[in-house]
Amino acid sequence: MSSLDARLGVLRGTTPPIPHNARTLAALTANPSCDRRSLLDAAGIDKDALAAHLDLPRPLRKSQLALDYGLAFERKVAAQGGTPLVPLLRQALGLTLPEVSYEDVNSVGSDDDKSPLKLRRARTRSLILSAAHRRSERPRTLIDHPVLRLTVAGHHAYLEPDVIAFQHDGNFHIVEIKSFPVIHGQADSTKVAAALTQAAAYVLALRELLASDGLPPGHVSDTVILVNPRNFSHQPTATLVNAYQQIKSLSRHLGRLRRLPELLDKVPPETTFDLAPGPDRKSTRPRGELVAALATVRARYTPGCRHHCDLAFHCRNEARNQSRIEALGTAVRDDLAGIDTVATALALTDGHLHPSRDQRDITQALRHAQRIHADLGTSTA
Ligand code: SF4
Repeated sequence: MSSLDARLGVLRGTTPPIPHNARTLAALTANPSCDRRSLLDAAGIDKDALAAHLDLPRPLRKSQLALDYGLAFERKVAAQGGTPLVPLLRQALGLTLPEVSYEDVNSVGSDDDKSPLKLRRARTRSLILSAAHRRSERPRTLIDHPVLRLTVAGHHAYLEPDVIAFQHDGNFHIVEIKSFPVIHGQADSTKVAAALTQAAAYVLALRELLASDGLPPGHVSDTVILVNPRNFSHQPTATLVNAYQQIKSLSRHLGRLRRLPELLDKVPPETTFDLAPGPDRKSTRPRGELVAALATVRARYTPGCRHHCDLAFHCRNEARNQSRIEALGTAVRDDLAGIDTVATALALTDGHLHPSRDQRDITQALRHAQRIHADLGTSTA
């Protein structure tokens, strides 16, 4: 075990790690400068369990009904060796193979394996490279439940796309099975964007795999295939969607992520987010200790956190208690760049604080806004 893994293990404590997934990576693009989230995700800490123990509202939690529905749809689409999927992909990608080869990587290994993800990743790698180098008589056209690996902040994250499709002309496509419907050819644009940002993580991981064997990353298409229920039925339909923007954006954010050792250097070595589960698996960790541990890692709350992070309500309270500017939203934060707190903004405005050279322009703007506000108050009095 590397010293980095050991340190992340101390942060996580006694619970097994929750690996990065495409959803957590997509969330990075929403708030890439939050050290707290970066560290919690890198250590594989269960943020939902953390939020539950801190008694926070958990709006991101999906209902069991929605989870069951999504799972049932995915099983239906991938049933019998991908039988329902094959005609959809043949049509979407123009696959001309008379027989489509299918491999389910989920069946690799046994329940006793200590690292099933690593085994499945090794099998995926071998299938992908064999298809890319055309070593096999029967190119693996569909690879179900593959496992890919992506380097995130110098650390490996294992990702599980639904399906990888290989075209005979040498291109790979990510196929994502999603349970939100396409109604009369239209799907919810927010959900499509979220699905494409997740798919972007898979595209980058697949490109990393090809590049590691000297193959051109361009063999992984920017075009992602979304498979959704059609209209109000359970019948699947496939749509080709270009994820170029999402791939570019995620790639840029990953490149900007500060290296983990740098983040860890700023955290006291004894810090841990261990929930210390008791025999009944309930956390025994005093909440105050956990809140103090969270306070050791810098957060960067924005109101958008509520849409992608389990700790949003904790960080919002913290930002408000510290009268942080970002609690007022990204527009205000950007307008008041260089000013950290509401108290500082007010002190600069009423002259109790002398502006630094960087703060002169924004102080003038604040004082101008205050004069307008005062004039309006006088004229309506
Ligand atoms: S909720 Fe907190 S930890 Fe999560 S991204 Fe926002 S600031 Fe970071």
